[in-house]
Amino acid sequence: PLTFDVKSIRKDFPILNRKVNEKPLVYFDNAATSQTPQQVIDVIVDYYSNYNANIHRGVHALSQEATDAYEQARIKLQKHFNIPNAYQTLFTSGTTHGINIVASGYAEILKEGDEVIVSALEHHSNIVPWQMLCEKTGAVLKVIPMTDNGTLDMDAFEQLLSDKTKLVFVNHVSNALGTVNPIEFIIEKTHAVGGAVLVDGAQAAPHIKADVQALDVDFYVVSAHKMCGPTGVGMLYGKEKWLEQLPPYQGGGEMIDQVTFEKTTYAGLPHKFEAGTPNICGGIAFGAALDYMNAIGFETIAAYEHELLEYGTEKLKAIDGLRIYGESKEKTAVISFNIEGIHPYDIGTILDKLGVAVRTGHHCAQPIMDFYKIPGTVRASFAFYNTKEEIDILVAAVERAKNMLS
Ligand code: PMP
Repeated sequence: PLTFDVKSIRKDFPILNRKVNEKPLVYFDNAATSQTPQQVIDVIVDYYSNYNANIHRGVHALSQEATDAYEQARIKLQKHFNIPNAYQTLFTSGTTHGINIVASGYAEILKEGDEVIVSALEHHSNIVPWQMLCEKTGAVLKVIPMTDNGTLDMDAFEQLLSDKTKLVFVNHVSNALGTVNPIEFIIEKTHAVGGAVLVDGAQAAPHIKADVQALDVDFYVVSAHKMCGPTGVGMLYGKEKWLEQLPPYQGGGEMIDQVTFEKTTYAGLPHKFEAGTPNICGGIAFGAALDYMNAIGFETIAAYEHELLEYGTEKLKAIDGLRIYGESKEKTAVISFNIEGIHPYDIGTILDKLGVAVRTGHHCAQPIMDFYKIPGTVRASFAFYNTKEEIDILVAAVERAKNMLS
């Protein structure tokens, strides 16, 4: 049963009224970027209309208003993820930035022969920075293998762990397949050998409210643009002991205590990692996006999206020759598929002509495509403002594409 009124939710999203190729837009590329409700757009307009100013250094009214709003947004993030202190809640430009802050900092901590572990289900942004780190330090990169149904092999993971393991990085949810990974288990086992865990929460945060203290995770990173907020802003949470130990990522204004040409001392947390003028409006709007989603409720969102997932899976599976990749029991509302003998790009192009926006390609997760020996998939990813009627349009469009292309 529908637990909330999706028709009234849709009224909050002006973009859902537009047409693409003279067809009503069916937006199923939510795993790439979610859409923005009017409530968040209003916050952005209000910022630039009424109190746009640089923060933390001005004594004038506008600067103070902007500083207050930005710091209040930080507290919204802190509360949402149950972070112990606001100063452990770092604003970033997104998930990629958050991962790079940690990876580059670890260059000063890791030694030759140390081991770091990645999963086979990662986005390139949670692979490449660690490869760069290993090149710099001589640390060894190991990979948790995946299985045919798109889940991680936890027995193999346990075999990889040893007292050499310094860091494990894994996504909470795979962007290419929607698999929810057993991060609780990974965190527990990694801690048992003395390692730390970074969880890439980019794909989880729009659907699951993570409690970083309950998880006992060392680092958690997200992007606002996947959770009804703007692009160019995100969050890095870190345990205090690590954030104190890691060196700053960038030098500049805002991140210093004292500067002379002989020596500079750094500011405390969070400013040590927030050099330069941040995305002030973006941070404030990120807070507003969390307010918006929390007002609906993450359990309500997850339950409704699960209904969409089950409905879409059943309908798409009924199409002859269609294979869905990623059949974990624990999944977010992502359906990654191919039709036998047809290139995913060709399907995506026809879907676009019919007003249906999906993602095609390797989804920045080439190792997963290599595992399945495919060039890519068609990925339909649902959000709480999508409907079963839209899924019917997708299914009809896929059938039409299949008939045209085979
Ligand atoms: N990790 C995952 C799992 C993602 O899905 C994405 C975005 N596709 C990223 C990292 C990178 O996020 P961003 O581009 O916002 O930095």
